[in-house]
Amino acid sequence: MSTPQPSHIALFPSAGMGHLMPFLRLAAMLAKQDSIVTVITAQPTVSLAESEHISSFLRYNPKINHLELQLAPSFRQADSPPVDPFFLQMHLINQSINLLPPLLSSSSPPFSAIFVDFLVVAKVAPIAKTLDLPIYILSTTSVAFDSLTAYLPMLASNPAEFNKTSAEIKIPGLSPMAMSSLPPIFLDSSHLFTSTIITNSQALSEAKGILMNTFEWFQASTLVALNKDRVTKSLPPILPIGPLEPYHDPHDDNGDQYRSWLENQPVESVVYISFGNRTAMSRDQMHELEKGLEKTEWRFFWVLKTSTVDKDDKEDAEHFLNEAFLEKTKNKGLVIKGWVEQQEILGHPAIGGFLSHCGWNSVMEAALRGVPMLAWPQHGDQRVNAQVMEEAGLGLWERNWDWGPNGIVKGEEIEKKIVELMTDEKLRGRAKKVREEARNAVGRDGSSDKVLREVVESLIIPF
Ligand code: UDP
Repeated sequence: MSTPQPSHIALFPSAGMGHLMPFLRLAAMLAKQDSIVTVITAQPTVSLAESEHISSFLRYNPKINHLELQLAPSFRQADSPPVDPFFLQMHLINQSINLLPPLLSSSSPPFSAIFVDFLVVAKVAPIAKTLDLPIYILSTTSVAFDSLTAYLPMLASNPAEFNKTSAEIKIPGLSPMAMSSLPPIFLDSSHLFTSTIITNSQALSEAKGILMNTFEWFQASTLVALNKDRVTKSLPPILPIGPLEPYHDPHDDNGDQYRSWLENQPVESVVYISFGNRTAMSRDQMHELEKGLEKTEWRFFWVLKTSTVDKDDKEDAEHFLNEAFLEKTKNKGLVIKGWVEQQEILGHPAIGGFLSHCGWNSVMEAALRGVPMLAWPQHGDQRVNAQVMEEAGLGLWERNWDWGPNGIVKGEEIEKKIVELMTDEKLRGRAKKVREEARNAVGRDGSSDKVLREVVESLIIPF
């Protein structure tokens, strides 16, 4: 009698750690569920963090296979205007997708499905169709932001109503969204990022489902709206499978330093501060943050990023910060420049709050550990994510704080909000409730666990 064949799933992320991380997490989860897993990554990567993570992930997960999509070189002229390196990478990946079919068709055992980033679905879908391969999207953002991107083609086709003067936008089935929460580049449909989003939104119906790094409880009403076809017709099922489980990654050069520091801090006494991988603040804003941190009596652990791409991030933290600040705060604060193991830090008992840009992975990591957040969105999906996070009861969001580069938030305001974050006991209680719900969702037979198992089981070849 023949036995069922395990599914063989290809995972194909787009550019940046915020995209790579959820794909690697899902790869590890699928491998644990006995699927055969192959991760396809673009080569070269933009950031060192990506290449180092891919190597160490594969080293510690030897059962997971790896294929590389060699990117065509960029044909940009030396004098052409600068483009965000991550947008350029996303573009190059799309330009190189013609190299994907040989990678997919030569695999043994043959693939049973491909899970792709939203930013490549339009180009991958016809290839998957030819190979008779079911395609799923793994979303790297909130359901609310996904609703916005799904609806963007409709918005962009109506410039009379979708323009700078609009106060808010209305997406069927969702509460109105403030125009100030949208990334300003969404108003320019010729922008590389916006046009890529529009193209891919129009291809959403090609996917069998959209896997979301979220859980039902956290975004219940938006999930219902999307799944009932209220946002747009012909969307595939939206499948919450998160928070995606972190995997242990021993690659961490700075680890010893901050681990021993954290061990010596009292329970819930430290504000962890990080704005993701690629958010470099202006020097003026950094100095205001210093003032706020110096003034507050709370301890802090600040992970500093000073350039968009880590390969250019060469100077020490001391080079960017005031000497007097470092001296005055040396007994209550730690500043680290470079990569830290965020999910582990958020799980440390000393951490009592998280000042964050609200990248979606960070929100889900805080949810899984019940750490109250103070949102300070800097760009992209982060304002929409901040609202979702606030509405779910996980934290605070000061709407008056402008996007990163647009205005300076003063040190006194930052200090005031940090005190609120660290002393609001009701908020701490709500955050713990979020943690409980998140754990239930990913636990055995929880809502997210069941959804992922059903997807995987549907891909198993019966004999
Ligand atoms: N991250 C980390 N260490 C760092 C910076 C980032 O572990 O020093 C991780 C973080 O835990 C999250 C991801 O990188 O999983 C960043 O994704 P997110 O969506 O939060 O923000 P992005 O960097 O994409 O804006």
